[in-house]
Amino acid sequence: MNVFVLNCGSSSVKFQIINTDLDMFETDSDRRVAKGLIERVGKDDAIVNLEAEGQEPVKSVEPIHDHREAILRIKKWMEDPGTKIEGIHSWDDIHAIGHRVVHGGEKFTKSVKIDKEVLAQIEECADLAPLHNPANLKGIYACYEIFGDKIPQVAVFDTAFHSTMPEEAYLYAIPMEYYEKYRIRRYGFHGTSHRYVAYRYRKLVGKPREEVNVITLHLGNGCSACAIKNGQSINTTMGMTPLEGLIMGTRSGDIDAAIVEYMFNKGIGSVADIFNILNKKSGMLGISGLSNDMRDIEKAAAEGQHRAQLALKMFALRVKKYIGAYMAEMNGTDAIIFTAGIGENSVLIRKMICEGLENLGIELDEKLNKQAVRGKCMKISKETSKVAVYVIPTNEELLLARDTVRVVKDAPRMW
Ligand code: AMP
Repeated sequence: MNVFVLNCGSSSVKFQIINTDLDMFETDSDRRVAKGLIERVGKDDAIVNLEAEGQEPVKSVEPIHDHREAILRIKKWMEDPGTKIEGIHSWDDIHAIGHRVVHGGEKFTKSVKIDKEVLAQIEECADLAPLHNPANLKGIYACYEIFGDKIPQVAVFDTAFHSTMPEEAYLYAIPMEYYEKYRIRRYGFHGTSHRYVAYRYRKLVGKPREEVNVITLHLGNGCSACAIKNGQSINTTMGMTPLEGLIMGTRSGDIDAAIVEYMFNKGIGSVADIFNILNKKSGMLGISGLSNDMRDIEKAAAEGQHRAQLALKMFALRVKKYIGAYMAEMNGTDAIIFTAGIGENSVLIRKMICEGLENLGIELDEKLNKQAVRGKCMKISKETSKVAVYVIPTNEELLLARDTVRVVKDAPRMW
């Protein structure tokens, strides 16, 4: 099957086309045949970047007014005789669409085929993720408008993997009525990524899913850690929204909630302004005053800039804190898995996080840590290390495509 995997942001449309099927999962023979990104959707100078595997990318700047136009632009490119995508000549060669949906609330504990009822339920969850779900929905509606019911559409939720968290992990210690009335609780995000790397680890070490006990660290522009016990998420650092937990590119992660009132009373801005600061101007950017990109911060730190050095220390300390917490919660862990942009690339961050954890049984092999290259699974701990440390590249799109196939074919899910 050719699956069109779609990830719509408020002003962006990101996609991959993945050739995959049930019999290809075990052998990992599924492959991406095209990918692309349209940015600045809604503007006259949208940036279009479309690439068939093995071909030169098509790049242009042109007016694209909404998500529907963006998808039609991709369709036009696909059907252009000059575009050579393996196995694809027109939209008729696309067999299913898989949508990334950020928030599935309490309703969605796994990926589902989208119909009118599911759409209404995703709409309801939009309230919980006003920055994300409405954008994801735009993509779904656009596909409905263009293709009708001809192509099955599947929703894959970032929150679903964490639906196994027990009450004591997902509830906030606020009056219970607010959970009961408004579903205020922790949901967790990056579920597709945590689930994917745990699945890769399971294959690597040849364990049944029920015996997977690991801590996964998704460290990218957004960051979260997940405690996976007996193959299930039992805790994760993001909460009701992606703001909670680790320090991220521009998000503060955990702070004392009373700071919001204090900032408001100081006249810093409205509640919305303050949350904008916490989401978009804090984290590594806020501490370093330089950038949200770890590469820039590492460079500045190496040049001796104090705030960049401080940002690195704060980032590593927060991750350490959660490793300790989750090891306590799980009575130890078999492995710690680094993934995403920072986790897969930053030798320094991996070193800073693992440093001084020898008494917890975590011994990083510095040489192996330096040898880890993006795109490859690698064990980077010493032979003597009680807890194994891995770098495992994430591939959320692949998991989205595989889930889409399973849902369309009514097959059991892979994790
Ligand atoms: P992601 O959200 O997974 O795409 O991760 C993006 C982030 O990864 C960037 O903002 C950088 O902070 C980080 N990153 C990418 N490459 C490197 C690298 N070579 N060293 C350190 N950080 C990196």
